Amino acid sequence: MKISRLETFVIGDGPDIDPDQGGVEPLACLRIHTDDGLSGLAEVFRVPPGVVQATVGGVGTHFGTLLVGQEITHPERLWQHMWDALMHTNRRGWEIIILGALDVAIWDIYGQMMKRPVWELLGGIQRGPFQTPAGAPVVVTPYCTLVSDVWGGEKMFMQQVGRADKLAALGYKAFKIEPMMSSPRDVVELARRFRKALGGKPTLMVDFGYLFNDVPTAARVCRELEEFDIYFFETPFPVDSFGPYAELAGRTSIPLAAGEHGVTQWEFLDMMDRGRISVVQPYMTTCGGLTEAKRIVELARARGALVCPGNWSTQILGAASVHLAAYSPITPFIEFAPAEVFDSPLRRELQNAGFPVRDGVIEIPTRPGIGYELPVEIVKRFGM
Ligand SMILES: [Mg+2]
Repeated sequence: MKISRLETFVIGDGPDIDPDQGGVEPLACLRIHTDDGLSGLAEVFRVPPGVVQATVGGVGTHFGTLLVGQEITHPERLWQHMWDALMHTNRRGWEIIILGALDVAIWDIYGQMMKRPVWELLGGIQRGPFQTPAGAPVVVTPYCTLVSDVWGGEKMFMQQVGRADKLAALGYKAFKIEPMMSSPRDVVELARRFRKALGGKPTLMVDFGYLFNDVPTAARVCRELEEFDIYFFETPFPVDSFGPYAELAGRTSIPLAAGEHGVTQWEFLDMMDRGRISVVQPYMTTCGGLTEAKRIVELARARGALVCPGNWSTQILGAASVHLAAYSPITPFIEFAPAEVFDSPLRRELQNAGFPVRDGVIEIPTRPGIGYELPVEIVKRFGM
């Protein structure tokens, strides 16, 4: 079975969407086709669609040259084939994100070819009795990322806590509040309001969106947050500031999380070893694909860290996170941007087409490949 053709298309809620409000801005997707009629799907979050269209497509494009005509074998071989060819170009950034999306689509095809779901080919379900209580069902648990239309103050508290309340009533079990562009006082107040409204049971994460640049303030906020039982504390400092991350890790009992922009296993190594970040959050495409994500799981496992895949995009990408989480022994949660609380028709349609969340959990998928079927009407209606 050989790769016969690469295809790209763009979907979105509209041309001028602010993704911070939950809408889907123009999003490039790609499909890999084989000569005997199989195809694999992936989205390419955070890469300008024009870049994807110019580099993935006909035989003569950057990635077309590398992939068209290649035999479908274990995805790791094709990953290495692309990586080796890019050694003298940029090895990071858009090029690796696109490589990562192609890798996800190749895994999708490989699973269909082997007639197995991808998680099984990644290594099967490896949870032991130390990770999963005896008798507990083996499922994937999403945590809901909450944003608000405004940052700071009463309106932010009401919107984010209101959204959490609505989602908890639907069965969701874990939530990440985002007091971004807010004062340290607002950060603590939002966590207080959340616990007051929802009680002690739901898991609560806090994302600072790179809010701080000084360790003492972040350490003080952590100290004040500790009484609210915070599962992790995400990105207090700028992306590459590993020194401050490491210093803060020594001053708080709350685990530090980062990695949404992390590209390749090498950046995750630095995050864990230099930054003492103990919850890494690779996007299944951005990090370099499922092939690279599996390597990140191995690195994190040896370091006593957790891998909680990030996804502030749609459930096309989310489907790949589900397979990683099904296999990974160190992934208690995946990120999920729930369509129920955002005004985005496309987000809703893509979620409805994906793996259902019932009583706050996602069943282990059984279809061969990734198993996300993108309805043709969605592409027609939201095509850009
Ligand atoms: Mg974040």
